[in-house]
Amino acid sequence: SSIFAAVEMAPRDPILGLNEAFNADSRSTKVNLGVGVYFTDEGKIPLLGAVKAAEKARLEAAPARGYQPIEGLAAYNKAVAELLFGKDSALISEGKTITIEALGGTGALKVGADYLKRLNPAAKVYISDPSWENHRALFESAGFTVENYPYYDAATRGVNFAGMKACLASLPAGSIIVLHACCHNPTGADMTDAQWEEIVAVCQARGLVPFLDMAYQGFAEGIDADAVAVRAFSKSGLQFFISSSFSKSFSLYGERVGALTIVTASKEEAGRVMSQVKRVVRTNYSNPPTHGGAVVAAVLASAELRQQWEDELAGMRVRIREMRKALVEKLAERKVAQDFGFVMKQRGMFSYTGLSAEQVERMKTEFGVYAVSTGRICIAALNSKNIDYVADAIAAVLK
Ligand code: PLP
Repeated sequence: SSIFAAVEMAPRDPILGLNEAFNADSRSTKVNLGVGVYFTDEGKIPLLGAVKAAEKARLEAAPARGYQPIEGLAAYNKAVAELLFGKDSALISEGKTITIEALGGTGALKVGADYLKRLNPAAKVYISDPSWENHRALFESAGFTVENYPYYDAATRGVNFAGMKACLASLPAGSIIVLHACCHNPTGADMTDAQWEEIVAVCQARGLVPFLDMAYQGFAEGIDADAVAVRAFSKSGLQFFISSSFSKSFSLYGERVGALTIVTASKEEAGRVMSQVKRVVRTNYSNPPTHGGAVVAAVLASAELRQQWEDELAGMRVRIREMRKALVEKLAERKVAQDFGFVMKQRGMFSYTGLSAEQVERMKTEFGVYAVSTGRICIAALNSKNIDYVADAIAAVLK
């Protein structure tokens, strides 16, 4: 018999399963709010002008496609570190940080997780309750036991900060704490600057190992403002990990452009850590692909293209905010009992609407409006053409 005869079907990825159902839906009015992708008001994934210009130049230069170094393109890694820590960061000038080009934020998390497993195999990993749906599986597949720390408070629609802090303060030294650096996925609820300072202090007092996941830098307030968590940890003298991604901020999803950055205690230590991280990469995929990182590096190295990118990023941020405002207003016009003003306080692409799994199911069957069963919707999938229809659907299922 076949060597695969006893293989069981793995559970479907809930969000990708939603996309399949959406694609199979023949209603012309259907709307997919389940995805984690930014769309323009025309409902298209944008190709940014700055990216287009950098790609054109690259195509004309027709570079050979030799292997990259294991850690990727040096100019790219430098540009990433400057976005994270700021151009004049002492951590950078003192050589305490290492950055490697990774295959998206996911790839950065996986290389970081594999390296952490070698560094401290007995540690447990703690993720927010709830978290990005891949965090748990990713750290479990690296061999860790994964648990939750309290995060979202459904009653206030904000962060259960007291619960979170108390939990972190009870964890053993060496525990790995995965933190969403900004634009929390799926809730949209972020901590304040002051609360970040408190989390840094707890991590310091308990000897925890922070792993900041920053998939949306620039989607909440701006590039520097959204780096508040990174900057708070940078001042602390702690060692910590950062996964970052240009999937959303450069609209380069399929090019898989991200980075793993690690802050160490000294330049000498950074060299040793880098040598070990390179071993992880070498045995996984050897070295990263060339194109995406080269494009991002070219945009960030050119004053003109960088300005264009920052303007385009601001445009995405502003459109998301406009859609939040419009949704709140349109639901109020439809006289829903509840005040949806909280949607304006949430940050990033997502909103936890508070809709139940039953209500989400009704939106799908009765209206062809697809959302995640937790009530998460992607605000960046709303546009001037579908928003009235979506507001009708939400109002109908709330009645
Ligand atoms: N981390 C979080 C919190 C995310 O929301 C995402 C993407 O949705 C990622 C990581 C992965 O990003 P990438 O697509 O670059 O792998």
